[in-house]
Amino acid sequence: MKMLIAGKWVDGKKTIEVRDPFDDSVIDTVPNGTAADIDAAITAAGEGYRISRDLPVHERVRILRKAADIIDDNAEEFAVIIAKEGSKTIREARKEVYRAAQTMMISAEEARRINGETIPFDTNIGSENRLGYYFRFPIGIIAAITPFNDPLNLVAHKLGPAIAGGNSVVLKPATVTPLSAIKLCEALMEAGLPENVLNVVTGYGSKIGDLLVTDPRVRMISFTGGVEAGREIAKKAGLKKIGMELGSNTPVIVCDDCDLEQAVENSVSGAFWAAGQNCIGVQRIYIEEGIYKKFETLFVSRTRQYKTGPKLDEDCDMGPMIAEGEARRIEKWVNDAVSKGAKILTGGKRDGAIYDPTVLADVPEGCRIDIDEVFAPTVNLYPVKDLDEAIARANAVDFGLHAGIFTKDIGKAFKAIKEIEVGGIIINDSSDYRVDLMPFGGVKNSGLGREGIKFALQEMTEPRVVCFNL
Ligand code: NAP
Repeated sequence: MKMLIAGKWVDGKKTIEVRDPFDDSVIDTVPNGTAADIDAAITAAGEGYRISRDLPVHERVRILRKAADIIDDNAEEFAVIIAKEGSKTIREARKEVYRAAQTMMISAEEARRINGETIPFDTNIGSENRLGYYFRFPIGIIAAITPFNDPLNLVAHKLGPAIAGGNSVVLKPATVTPLSAIKLCEALMEAGLPENVLNVVTGYGSKIGDLLVTDPRVRMISFTGGVEAGREIAKKAGLKKIGMELGSNTPVIVCDDCDLEQAVENSVSGAFWAAGQNCIGVQRIYIEEGIYKKFETLFVSRTRQYKTGPKLDEDCDMGPMIAEGEARRIEKWVNDAVSKGAKILTGGKRDGAIYDPTVLADVPEGCRIDIDEVFAPTVNLYPVKDLDEAIARANAVDFGLHAGIFTKDIGKAFKAIKEIEVGGIIINDSSDYRVDLMPFGGVKNSGLGREGIKFALQEMTEPRVVCFNL
């Protein structure tokens, strides 16, 4: 596939192979973008911004809706690309495609609702004859930098609101999963997005990232990825807006009054979705002592039913990690925890990039699988004496994206809502729940700002005041 710069699909002098992490086969190639490509893309986006800011709302709506239709009409093709280039199974990939179409459709709807307000200037003595309002103005060129784990929908979450708000974009997708992103850009171009408004440069973040991030013509960086890259980018960005959707090591609390079957079923799915490479994936489960053993037995037995294998098989429950190196990393983290006293209840085996769904108990405080983001198919079970202890331990980390709590006690639910430090709390489901129009983002090291189209639109537009001196 090619890059999109100044309305043209272009090759690079060098290419990068995109490989299926299951068997390492080459699926396609993309250009290895250079400094000159980034510069050309930003220059084109400058031109594009003059077009996009003047694009009438009805036209933005038409383009975004058409793009949603194109995704829907070609859903299986999109799903196969996601399943091949990334970690997701075909069934997981289909759900992502459905959501990406939703994201574009909601962006079209929100384009109509970018409202301002009148301003009561006569609040100040001497301003009695002033009249005016503010409206929201696009921010300009947005650099969108995206991760591998939802290679289509997380790109849609940046392109949809950026276009709805009248901005132009330079997109740099994850190097391991650029194909879904490029296919989304093809859909937008086919839908009639004017040339230059959207530009895509493929290539390594470590090589071309700085140029994109530091260029003063770029007015906002909308980044989704890991905390390390997020920190680097925030340090280098200078005076421009930044949106950061980062990682987490998500807690779920299971109270002794809950529907146990539901808690097990939903938490297993939340732990192993996309082979655990999911920013709201379940990593730490705190279970009240009275039901701990029963929960553990059911959880392990459900996990053992998970089928790994080729991602395009309809009955495959979990695919490989994104690279063998990632599977080796988590193998090391688990072995380290085991050497310090953790117990593997099931899993703990690696075959190439596949790391079996793994459940651990007795994980000592402070080891990496306890305090860092695992981003892998492993989950820790911890007995706790009560909800107070569960909340204290849920909060005892540097992240705070989502949390889940299973309880039928409304008092316990409200205590958790009030005291757990996160961007979203899900009652009677695991942390792994999201619809695309809700505000989404974290506290602490999990991020800055919010996505979810209406909320991303706030970040991607700025108020401009108009004041008439009558
Ligand atoms: P990553 O390694 O941080 O990479 C994310 C993107 O940033 C990639 O496109 C990468 O390019 C680029 N990049 C890396 N270093 C850069 C730099 N110095 N300057 C500019 N760009 C740079 O993350 P990942 O492994 O793809 O994704 C996993 C992480 O994303 C996890 O931590 C996960 O929790 C987080 N995530 C968060 C959310 C959320 O909404 N909060 C959603 C999904 C994922 P290359 O691919 O070329 O390295």
